[in-house]
Amino acid sequence: MKIRTRLAPSPTGEIHVGTMRTLLYDYALAKQTSGELILRIEDTDRERYVEGAEERALKVIEDYGLSWDEGPKVGGPQEPYFQSQRLDIYKKYAIELVEKGFAYYCFCTQERLEKLREEQRKEKLAVTKYDKHCLSLTKEEVEKNLKEGIPYVIRLKVPSNEEIEVEDLVLGKLTFPSNDIDDQVLMKSDGFPTYHLAVVVDDHLMNITHILRGREWLPSTPKHVLLYKAFGWRPPKFVHLPLLREVNSTKKLSKRTGSVNAADFLKDGYLPEALLNFMMFLGWNPGTEKEIYSLEEFVKDFSIGKIQTSEMAAFDRQKLLWFNGMYIRNMSTEELWNKVVLWHERYLEKMDFGKYKKEFSLKVLDLVKERMKTLAEFNDLTSYFYFKPFVDKSKFIEFSVSLDKAKEIIKNYLDLYRNIPSEEWTKDNLDKLSHEYLSKYNYKPKEAFMTLRYATCGVSFTPPLFDVFNLIGKEETTSRLEDSLR
Ligand code: GLU
Repeated sequence: MKIRTRLAPSPTGEIHVGTMRTLLYDYALAKQTSGELILRIEDTDRERYVEGAEERALKVIEDYGLSWDEGPKVGGPQEPYFQSQRLDIYKKYAIELVEKGFAYYCFCTQERLEKLREEQRKEKLAVTKYDKHCLSLTKEEVEKNLKEGIPYVIRLKVPSNEEIEVEDLVLGKLTFPSNDIDDQVLMKSDGFPTYHLAVVVDDHLMNITHILRGREWLPSTPKHVLLYKAFGWRPPKFVHLPLLREVNSTKKLSKRTGSVNAADFLKDGYLPEALLNFMMFLGWNPGTEKEIYSLEEFVKDFSIGKIQTSEMAAFDRQKLLWFNGMYIRNMSTEELWNKVVLWHERYLEKMDFGKYKKEFSLKVLDLVKERMKTLAEFNDLTSYFYFKPFVDKSKFIEFSVSLDKAKEIIKNYLDLYRNIPSEEWTKDNLDKLSHEYLSKYNYKPKEAFMTLRYATCGVSFTPPLFDVFNLIGKEETTSRLEDSLR
């Protein structure tokens, strides 16, 4: 069977990393059956609309290397894919429900509804619900009100004393007492549908076979089941996915701990491939040791049966860092360099390469690649290759017994390095001669080399020192040592 999935983001904010995870699963499920993934923008909540959010949603999906088969930009048989452009469709279906007796007009004012809620709160009822006041209006009363232009909404007529069954492919059969369900507004007074009506109508018209979404939507599902029944439509399969939580917490992902929006992880310097690989495991597990998955492999291996049934999946930020570091290490240096440059162009400003060329940067990258976990770390890890570092002389005593001793070490090595002919300035030669000087002056390796490292790089942690000297060259090394004596 060809599977048709959909992602239906609302432009009320940015695409959350959990939404991107859902999209990844949607993608895998559709692709493994040569089916389709539909992207639909659910922009019916005008009050919470965030300017430009839909363009950013499309962009970030593309930036992650995912794509959709029908939807904005690419079109498709059920155009338009923006709900705000489909209002007539929802209106027609809302009226159909009223005519069939599954929905009704409600003319209650905001004040009345507010008072009702207030009273119910005082009574400490578990759920506040509409009291079905307008359900008892006669046909004539309704017509009169409509004719007079009294503002109205259309509500779902939820049956009393029923158990509503929801069949979820991951969670199994779930039942919801209908008495807990409000007579949901389907059509608002501004002519816009609510999410519940629009999502059901569109999922049906767009022939969606599987609805994947986060667990936060589970309480809405019985309402949708009622709507499918009322229309006489067969509901798609429901698949509710675990929500994401911080490690060692039962709460949802928090901005206080780090990024939560998909786009922000790219800004943090994560690679889309690593992010996708990490996300594959946010609620799914193949049950093997295999951890490194390309998108193609995931499309092949993904199955609904292996989605976890727990309510939340841990979002292990350390693990994400590990994945990213691994993708960085496994990438060719040239490819990594291109990504570093693109990242800088997009998130910082154009890179200032100083006097150095690309060949130099490739060598720098070769040296730091092992330790680099995000593209954003490049600057911090490498700035001393490109620019003379700031050297705080009072810090020498962290590496040497005294400031005088540090100066003496630097002077002696400066003599040594000045006398090495340029053509003999190689890593191995530097290594050999520098070690010989240790015995000549009876220096401890740690004291001497840490002092030289700090004097030339301004940091205490670098790739092997003679690799660094070899790369920045004789002139630069000796000039930095001279500067550190001033
Ligand atoms: N528009 C909803 C959202 O913002 C869609 C939920 C669903 O997948 O049904 O996520």
